[in-house]
Amino acid sequence: MKAIIIGAGLGGLLAGAKLCGAGYEVEIFERLPFIGGRFANIEYRGFKLSTGALHMIPHGSRGPLAQLLREVEAHVNIIDSDPMAIIRKEKGENIEFHDFRKELSLTKRIKLATILAYSLKFKPKSDISFRDWVLKYFDDEFLLRLADSFCGWSLSLRAKDVPAREMLDIIDNMYKYKGSGVPQGGCGAVTGALAEVIRAGGGKIHTSSCVDKIIIDCNRAKGVTLKGRTVDADLVISDIGHQETARMYNCMDNGYLERINTVNPSKGVKICLGADEPLIGHSGVYFTPYAERINGINEVTHADPSLAPPGKHLVMAHQAVLSDNLEEEIKLGLSDLKRFFPDKKYEILLIQSYSGKWPVNRASSGSDTGNTTPIDDLHVVGDGAKGKGGIEVEGVALGVRNLMRELGLR
Ligand SMILES: Cc1cc2nc3c(=O)[nH]c(=O)nc-3n(C[C@H](O)[C@H](O)[C@H](O)COP(=O)(O)OP(=O)(O)OC[C@H]3O[C@@H](n4cnc5c(N)ncnc54)[C@H](O)[C@@H]3O)c2cc1C
Repeated sequence: MKAIIIGAGLGGLLAGAKLCGAGYEVEIFERLPFIGGRFANIEYRGFKLSTGALHMIPHGSRGPLAQLLREVEAHVNIIDSDPMAIIRKEKGENIEFHDFRKELSLTKRIKLATILAYSLKFKPKSDISFRDWVLKYFDDEFLLRLADSFCGWSLSLRAKDVPAREMLDIIDNMYKYKGSGVPQGGCGAVTGALAEVIRAGGGKIHTSSCVDKIIIDCNRAKGVTLKGRTVDADLVISDIGHQETARMYNCMDNGYLERINTVNPSKGVKICLGADEPLIGHSGVYFTPYAERINGINEVTHADPSLAPPGKHLVMAHQAVLSDNLEEEIKLGLSDLKRFFPDKKYEILLIQSYSGKWPVNRASSGSDTGNTTPIDDLHVVGDGAKGKGGIEVEGVALGVRNLMRELGLR
């Protein structure tokens, strides 16, 4: 059985590694000259910056991605963050730092767990947003800010744009899999290790190879074309989201098109800083609920010093984009950073914005439509087809796991 995969992003590579392990002949086509998509490293003056991700794996060494990597024998060392996260809290002129896990009092935690269980088990279809849910059950200004900071950092959305049911699944996964981690060598080490597994299993990965069309015959995917050349397959897997995939075979299924066209990508801005001294001083997330724009910051060199030149620190700030004025969004983000670190010396290495065809997330969390398409033997993976409650790459891994089940594979 031959499988063609369109795109060598994390989703395509995870699917490729699983299929190689199941005995498929795998051929991956990637239009860029390098693999990894938004999960690749960019070398810059000794810093390992990235094409997209903040070098963070949301559930660290215990999460769905780590589990899949172990299954396919992709050797990646994931260093769990410690502490999981710190919250920068402002009370008038005073700045306080609170441990994320300890911040919720026992009473709040019991209340959260009870409501969580109730909401998940008995009201899974409610359309209430996470913001309204927090307002309804807690009505606490700090928790509302924290909800926005958390959603902005991890999903590039405001709490009002995240369905409570999705957020409750995310919280459930946080209890199950725990906090984040950093892959040693950065996100490029993950996609690099997967590519090695695929090649060792006889699979082929072609870079600078853009797929133009998916060939359909009698409602079944039969292969793809690249610059007029046809490559046949028994199975086609697309890592480019449902909408782009549908365009590639001129999809006429109106019900499906209507469903996938309601999916909105999420937008964000990432600011990478280089510093001679630590700015936040730990490897966990630094939530900033009182900022104008920045939702959170991480300093990945505490987990893996090799991500910066010796003695330097790599710090990355992330913010959801809240208006159409990108310049103003970036200005506000930079002024937040100045306010947070008034006495520290740092340089701005790179500012990246993500939207349109290179979003933070192809399907904003809670709007994923699954792996299935109306065409037999054509499936979608990646962050346009995430599994339930999966933050970013954990959702990508859960989506690949779901697809393997659909294909009758383990
Ligand atoms: C700023 C930012 C920060 C993030 N931070 C994190 C983080 O810290 N942790 C985390 O878990 N997630 C994070 N994410 C999300 C994470 O990076 C993505 O969810 C993940 O990388 C998506 O992988 P993918 O395989 O779905 O898509 P992609 O990485 O986009 O891969 C798709 C690939 O398909 C290729 N392609 C497209 N069209 C064609 C074609 N016609 N033919 C052949 N190839 C094609 C593309 O070139 C690309 O390489 C972040 C994202 C951004 C943008």
